[in-house]
Amino acid sequence: MQPSIINPPGRVESILKNQAVFPRINGWCFVELEGRTFCASILDIKDNQAEIRVVNSRIPVTEWKVQSHPLDKLSPTIFLKHDNLEDLLASLKSTNTLTTPKIENALRTIDRSLFCRETPYANSSVEIGYDMCISAPNMHVQALECSKELFDNAKAILDVGSGSGYLTALYAELAPAAHVYGIEYYAGLLEESQRKIDGLPESLKSRITLRHGDGLKGLKESGPFDIIHVGFMCKEEPTDLIDQLAPGGLLLVPIGNRVSTLNPKFLAGELYAFQKQADGTINKYSLFTCSFVPSQQ
Ligand code: SAH
Repeated sequence: MQPSIINPPGRVESILKNQAVFPRINGWCFVELEGRTFCASILDIKDNQAEIRVVNSRIPVTEWKVQSHPLDKLSPTIFLKHDNLEDLLASLKSTNTLTTPKIENALRTIDRSLFCRETPYANSSVEIGYDMCISAPNMHVQALECSKELFDNAKAILDVGSGSGYLTALYAELAPAAHVYGIEYYAGLLEESQRKIDGLPESLKSRITLRHGDGLKGLKESGPFDIIHVGFMCKEEPTDLIDQLAPGGLLLVPIGNRVSTLNPKFLAGELYAFQKQADGTINKYSLFTCSFVPSQQ
């Protein structure tokens, strides 16, 4: 299935330029490379050339490079509002966002409709209470694809701002030897997500622990962590979380402080990957532009 690209002749350029300055969509486009469609983050547009970073889960994030493409080779990103899981998965696969069969299986096993009250199969964020949102499926899938090399050997994973508990459950499903910790600021959301986790099979729920508190401080006593995911926008680099990475570990964290023009409840910024090397040095990569709810601390 092809992504639903609406591509009105003559208007592509203006749509792309709008997307580039529109913080919620955050300069996303589709690009055709070697016969495949990929999502890409638009970083800059000059003289009908766009600087983009292609979100290519077929290669490690360390190899994602900025590329320059003429605007007429790019298409605006318009996603259909799917009403069933199979169509959502087909759409995520058609843009090469979802490329790993194990992750696809996990998305079938842990059904998003358990954690999300309405439109669970639309590729969009959905309110979960307290002005907070479960992230859009493409954002969760991109995070999982970025951390997939670590699943088999991961011992501990930390989901900061666990919200609905959906991503926490997916990590437990995908990393069979890991204990997965979630930290959530709102006690009400924590209780609701705990009830959902309690309904999962013993093999999953026995490896999930949810905690109440400020996630920016991490969970030192349960670390170090092979994967840390942050589900809200941080204003600056979360140093405690970087410290709690295991050697070889990966931190995925949105950082930024621009108010989204579409939804003033969201902040716009960039998703960063911090990789801790065996000798403790940290490499930092900017992956793509994104919008998340702000940190509550
Ligand atoms: N991955 C979650 C994201 C939910 S939205 C999901 O898809 O369901 C972000 C969550 O982070 C919210 O539930 C919010 O309450 C929580 N949050 C925001 N700031 C926080 C902080 N400093 N510490 C812990 N949780 C925080």
